[in-house]
Amino acid sequence: MPAIVANATRDRLRIAIQKSGRLAEPARSLLAACGLSWRESRDRLFCYGESLPVDLLLVRDDDIPGLIADGVCDYGIVGRNELDEQANARLELGLAPAYREVRALGFGGCRLMLAIPETWEWEGAQQLQGLRIATSYPAILRQWLGARGVDAAVVELSGSVEIAPKLGTADLICDLVSSGATLRANQLKPVETLLESQAVLAGPVHGFNDARADLSAMLLRRMDGVLKLKDSKLLMFRAAPDTVPALTRLLVDAEPLVQLPGEHAEGISLQTMCHTAISWQQLEELERAGARGLMVLSVERSLA
Ligand code: ATP
Ligand code: ZN
Repeated sequence: MPAIVANATRDRLRIAIQKSGRLAEPARSLLAACGLSWRESRDRLFCYGESLPVDLLLVRDDDIPGLIADGVCDYGIVGRNELDEQANARLELGLAPAYREVRALGFGGCRLMLAIPETWEWEGAQQLQGLRIATSYPAILRQWLGARGVDAAVVELSGSVEIAPKLGTADLICDLVSSGATLRANQLKPVETLLESQAVLAGPVHGFNDARADLSAMLLRRMDGVLKLKDSKLLMFRAAPDTVPALTRLLVDAEPLVQLPGEHAEGISLQTMCHTAISWQQLEELERAGARGLMVLSVERSLA
């Protein structure tokens, strides 16, 4: 395995992703969709990039912001919750920002929320004065409480935060919520959102001045292509020219219609890129408005 050192000049990019967990698979698929492939190594910590000089480091998500801050990795795919927590913790220590959110990636969605016992009435932040709040996100919570002038005790726990009120170690919690099922199972209810989170691409504050600059620009361009196309479909159909205004009104989330060369008995050929899913109902409405030979095609790649 090549030595993993943080040096000033490098000609390969290094991206840290979660080794296992909620973000591991979607992060890998996203990078694979950007054309990256790797030679798997036995220790599965370092994957050498084969198709491009872009290597992967498989780590715990908590380590990703620090790896970028220390220059060991150039980019990382991590939850905004983790990135913001460590950024706030650095701020509390008077350290300068050492990474930034480069792109939101559209998966791993969740919220960092305050949750109180089901039997309580929520009256607002002032109610928290003097109470104990269990969380794995102490820096974000302290910042939120501070901004509201609330003096509450922040009890830092690394896991199983939701059972703290039952155990009597805290009065309420501040934790990640997606469906809310875990909260309900513990007789808690969510009342305030501190952060809307999702997986993000984190990267350096400053650009690169070596071969990584071009690699990085190419990777971001491909990633933008993949993210934009995720829910995109190419819609093709034929229609009489006088029906086009009505059809256009039905295509609210689509790009302007493009006319393709050639004439047919049923009129002109048209196509457009739609950036949301197209339902059967929408297709039937288009057909009623005059579209014929409707086809919805998946888009593999685009450098638009
Ligand atoms: P690691 O072993 O890498 O430290 P972990 O247990 O800290 O893993 P996971 O539970 O895999 O992490 O969660 C990773 C990220 O997934 C979270 O930081 C968050 O951004 C996102 N996520 C999405 N939904 C949820 C949820 N319901 N609970 C926790 N995290 C969620
Ligand atoms: Zn973790």
